[in-house]
Amino acid sequence: MAPPVPVADAVGMDHMRWQCSRCAALSPVGELRYACTRCRWSGRLTLAIDYERVGAGRSPGEVLLTGEHSLWRYARLLPVAAGGGGARRVRSGYVAGWTPLHRADRLARRLGLGRLWIKDEAGNPSGALKDRASVLAVADALDRGRDVIATASSGNAGAALAGAAAAVGLRCVVFVPRGTPPAKLTQISRYGARVLVVDGDYDAAVRLSTAACRRWGWYCRNTAYNPCTAEGKKTVALEIVEQLGWSAPDAVVVPVGDGNILAGVHRGLCDARAMGWIDRMPRLIGVQAAAAAAVHRAWTEGAADAGPAPARTRAESINVGEPQDGFRALAAVRDTAGVMVAVEDEEIFAAIDWLAAESGVYAEPASAAGAAALPALVARGELGSTDRVVLLNTGSGLKTAPSAAGGGAIPVAADLRAVAAAVMAGGAGADGEADLDEPEPQW
Ligand SMILES: *Cc1c(COP(=O)(O)O)cnc(C)c1O
Ligand SMILES: [Zn+2]
Repeated sequence: MAPPVPVADAVGMDHMRWQCSRCAALSPVGELRYACTRCRWSGRLTLAIDYERVGAGRSPGEVLLTGEHSLWRYARLLPVAAGGGGARRVRSGYVAGWTPLHRADRLARRLGLGRLWIKDEAGNPSGALKDRASVLAVADALDRGRDVIATASSGNAGAALAGAAAAVGLRCVVFVPRGTPPAKLTQISRYGARVLVVDGDYDAAVRLSTAACRRWGWYCRNTAYNPCTAEGKKTVALEIVEQLGWSAPDAVVVPVGDGNILAGVHRGLCDARAMGWIDRMPRLIGVQAAAAAAVHRAWTEGAADAGPAPARTRAESINVGEPQDGFRALAAVRDTAGVMVAVEDEEIFAAIDWLAAESGVYAEPASAAGAAALPALVARGELGSTDRVVLLNTGSGLKTAPSAAGGGAIPVAADLRAVAAAVMAGGAGADGEADLDEPEPQW
């Protein structure tokens, strides 16, 4: 393990420390630490903030960089100084965060929810929530004078890192597992990163990338291992409560692989609560694929951490056998009186279609897992007609292969009769047979 590297630009950061999520040991933010040394690197580091010094009790407008329409809006709650050299280079060149919050009224009515919003992370530059973690990691790597940055990824983290690295000219190495969708491999390669397809699964890619970073001193962005990941991702929760007029929804539904997004969302809500910007915590609902359900299994067994479990879901972004942030994810669900649920792959792929058709949001499979859980959550009485629910759309459906070739697109000859026949036969609202002598589509 490389020795800690002091950061010249740690000035102004002395109101925060890293704190181990397991043993509570504190360490300075200015030292590069990936995990707790006392816990033999298994404890995850959480930012412990002296909220008084940041301005707890003051209005958000006095604390936030309100002119900043990116995650740097919340800079005073982040472990990387917004005015530092790294942040200055990445901040305007790769604008992540401040994504739209859509109100999904049609879907809320159909599902029987009071209100439903979709926080649409496809609006980030690489098309996924992972950009929030990657910009912080890139800024931190620049502040520490590193010129190579690396990560393990099932696709999205690598794309986000490669994109942010491209914007500032850092060299980037991405370790992906076998079976990563071609669209994601292409995206990462186009950003100019080295993409290494590891002969193994995501967990193998995590191990190999960590070893490579130690061996060659590369800055390591690995999810959860690098504490900037959860701290970057927490900004999605700060945005949600700000976009809801500084009010907490009743529940936030989050797809879970490593559990880092869930841990990050919890971090952001804890910050908002401690600052006095929301008066209660929403329930956090974590959703896993039943075919890769290590965190869900730990939840049902009452375990504190998620042990290894089989990982065979086709939702590759949550196909994790050894969750890197299981401990904090489980604590987040328990602390908020939330729940973990598991959904079948068939439910996930069906949800891609109904989510898109009833909300206008096209999700990738991992992201659709959250939506897939909603009908069962309502049926079980976990969510109901008075609840205000936020669903995270963690990644764009454009980045994954369609569930069926063409997704049901209909070839037509270039004439109106063919259009009329196709619209009626395609189930676009018409009933009965197309009248080929009358080429007006009957809606
Ligand atoms: C990474 C990812 C997830 C899961 O996040 P974890 O932190 O691994 O739990 C969910 N959806 C998408 C689209 C992702 O890229
Ligand atoms: Zn520790």
